[in-house]
Amino acid sequence: MEENLAIDVARLDRDGEEIEGVLDDAVLDLHDDYLRPFAGIRYSLFAQLAGRELIVRGRLEQDFDAVCSRCGTDFDFTAEVPDFLASVATDEKTEIVDLTDEVRQSIILSLPTYPVCRADCRGVCPSCGKNLNKGSCTCRRNDRDDRWGALDALLPGKKD
Ligand SMILES: [Zn+2]
Ligand SMILES: [Zn+2]
Repeated sequence: MEENLAIDVARLDRDGEEIEGVLDDAVLDLHDDYLRPFAGIRYSLFAQLAGRELIVRGRLEQDFDAVCSRCGTDFDFTAEVPDFLASVATDEKTEIVDLTDEVRQSIILSLPTYPVCRADCRGVCPSCGKNLNKGSCTCRRNDRDDRWGALDALLPGKKD
């Protein structure tokens, strides 16, 4: 795995170049027990000089071992940046452009604030702690009935 994503501008093909590889995910510098990157940042990019401007675009992917914010289950997901774009001004003395920080920021911006194991994850019962994806519990139904019952009693015109 590579330690940084450096583009050798001095040697870049005039027609642009495909750049692919895997960047060490330690560069993400995430210290989050609920979101742990593994296997590195896969990148598949196209780098080209447009005048003095280095333009790099393409795709980034990073696998994560995550903990669901609703039910607490471990699950894996892949963060994807399908339209990574970096544009860096260069001059005749520029040799290497390091895009590690741009890559890091794009991956981090793509991350969910509250990762969930699946969009319709039902979470855990606040009373008994049961994972409701694995079936409902009896206390949940009672809680809900009681709550609606109390509300009904407060609402006018519901006394028939
Ligand atoms: Zn979940
Ligand atoms: Zn319950």
